[in-house]
Amino acid sequence: MRYIEPHAHMVSRTTDDYVNMVASGCAAVCEPAFWAGYDRGSADGFRDYFLQITEYEPKRAAKFGLPHFCWLCINPKESEDVGLAKDVLALIPEFLDRPNVLGIGEIGLNKNSRNELEVLEMHIDLAARHDQLILVHTPHLEDKLKGTRLTLDALRNNPAIKPERVIIDHVEEHTVGMVLDAGFWAGRTLYQGSKCSPARAIDIVETYGAERLWMNSACDWGVSIPLSIPYTAMEMRRRGHSAEAVDARIYQNPHSFLSQCGKFRLWRFQNPRE
Ligand SMILES: [Zn+2]
Repeated sequence: MRYIEPHAHMVSRTTDDYVNMVASGCAAVCEPAFWAGYDRGSADGFRDYFLQITEYEPKRAAKFGLPHFCWLCINPKESEDVGLAKDVLALIPEFLDRPNVLGIGEIGLNKNSRNELEVLEMHIDLAARHDQLILVHTPHLEDKLKGTRLTLDALRNNPAIKPERVIIDHVEEHTVGMVLDAGFWAGRTLYQGSKCSPARAIDIVETYGAERLWMNSACDWGVSIPLSIPYTAMEMRRRGHSAEAVDARIYQNPHSFLSQCGKFRLWRFQNPRE
């Protein structure tokens, strides 16, 4: 089995998790910028975090032959302070050319507030000006439907945004249809409690087909399972999905989306001595 983990917060995980992921067939891991478990007090705190996910984490993953990529932004949880958000956005362009940076994310809404929406629009504009891929976080549970609608409107209001270069993550049964119908990619997050179980994720594949869909663990500082993609693959096989179909869902789909960024070239990592 081979798979790509397109959404994991490895700064919160142990090195043992890297070992277990690689042993389970992980071919690449991608780390969106997000809340680090505490609110940072200044833009300098974000600069240190951007250095961590562009320098330290790629080296930690490389010890196990695992390519590590990342996305940059100020997350919605810390976007309520628009002044701080502007300072952090001003830092991002100096990091965009780093070899493991794939784009802007995970941006989006948390409580659907006016300030969050303003910062979301600033991020969309930044991505458009620098021709970056976008990864969007959608709110949890009761805020998800409204937040997804607001996010789709904000993306469509910017004429420079191409839907096929945007993934809307954490979709569920009631939001996946509107995301795919609008031409965006959709991500299903396998996370206990607040998000999707493996069985529900497979139900979504069986209901909506497999185009423009990926799955991820979003493992972070909370109770979460870094191996939830291979566990879901095992459940797909048990339900009768072929090995080829599983490979298409957990490797080829994320590969297709992420390869729109020219830095996502896994062959570069496969034969480092050549
Ligand atoms: Zn996340």
